[in-house]
Amino acid sequence: MASIFSKIIAGELPSYKIAENEEFFAFLDINPNAKGHALVIPKREENKLFDLSQSEYDGLMRFSYQVAKALEKTVPCERIGMSVIGLEVPHVHVHLIPINTMDDMRFVNKVSLTADEFTSLAAAIAANME
Ligand code: AMP
Repeated sequence: MASIFSKIIAGELPSYKIAENEEFFAFLDINPNAKGHALVIPKREENKLFDLSQSEYDGLMRFSYQVAKALEKTVPCERIGMSVIGLEVPHVHVHLIPINTMDDMRFVNKVSLTADEFTSLAAAIAANME
């Protein structure tokens, strides 16, 4: 069965999209640790990060770099934290999180945004993509 993220890529489920190219897709996490918390995924569904081919892994990191740069320009923060977990959704995803404290990297502290806030945030990050 297709993962929830494959359904997002296929347009069967909605997302607050930031950017995509042929192989990768970036969108806002629906339950963010901090404002701007983004996910970057390969379009080819794979469960575990280190089961990606070397070139897919390199491409994912390259695309994540571009998204992180745009995030830094958009969301005031100390730095962008990066994490890969995948215990909830078995489709590789890189968490990019604008952080100010270590607590922002804990997946128990959450912020809530309205649909309008998610939409304008995704558009602002997208506009800062190079
Ligand atoms: P994990 O698999 O533990 O790395 O966490 C999965 C992440 O995906 C969590 O941060 C969720 O909030 C996020 N998530 C789950 N479903 C969606 C969705 N439909 N749109 C955006 N983010 C999602």
